[in-house]
Amino acid sequence: MKVARILYPVHSLGPGNRLGIWLAGCPRRCPGCSNPELWRTRADQEISLPNLQRLLRPFLARRDLDGVVVTGGDPFFQPDALLQLLGYLNQSLKDILVYTGYTYEELLRLGQSACACLQHIGVLIDGPYREQENDGYVLKGSANQRIYFLRPELQPRYLAYLAEQHHPIQNFTTKEGVISVGIHRRDFADVIQEQAKKKGMILHDRP
Ligand code: SF4
Repeated sequence: MKVARILYPVHSLGPGNRLGIWLAGCPRRCPGCSNPELWRTRADQEISLPNLQRLLRPFLARRDLDGVVVTGGDPFFQPDALLQLLGYLNQSLKDILVYTGYTYEELLRLGQSACACLQHIGVLIDGPYREQENDGYVLKGSANQRIYFLRPELQPRYLAYLAEQHHPIQNFTTKEGVISVGIHRRDFADVIQEQAKKKGMILHDRP
């Protein structure tokens, strides 16, 4: 499967300390997408399930781990790989939040693997990002996106998180540069470019 990044602890995409897994690849190309560098897959992102499990195991054993968020790219761009990953994660914890550009109804028509993935997901946030509908929501990028509590027992903790109206952004410094994680405001990219320009820097997305 193609995995673009793994970060911990993510607390800007769901309640608690989360293990963040970004799968590479998305054919949708929503204008204003905050991760356009993940639209295209790269050969060096390929990892076998056993090797990925080896990487994830220490995080899944942590006592302070509250959940996982799987995003991208679009995780459902690789439905078979996603099914394997979710099956593995589900053995350790039930709070698995997944983002996708497909709607729930489209996922039901996408094929057997995509439908089977839904059995392992705790919370699903569906639908493509629409920049003109980005009005500063918590957890979701635009008004059209919907939050499905596929495990109803998770709903109270998510509703509490949503009620906080908190919009955290985390910046992780990696060897590839700074990765900004969270639900960004509509003009996020322009504001950052402007601030960087004032400091004599030009920012670019990795192709
Ligand atoms: S579905 Fe998500 S990752 Fe894909 S282009 Fe749209 S916002 Fe970006």
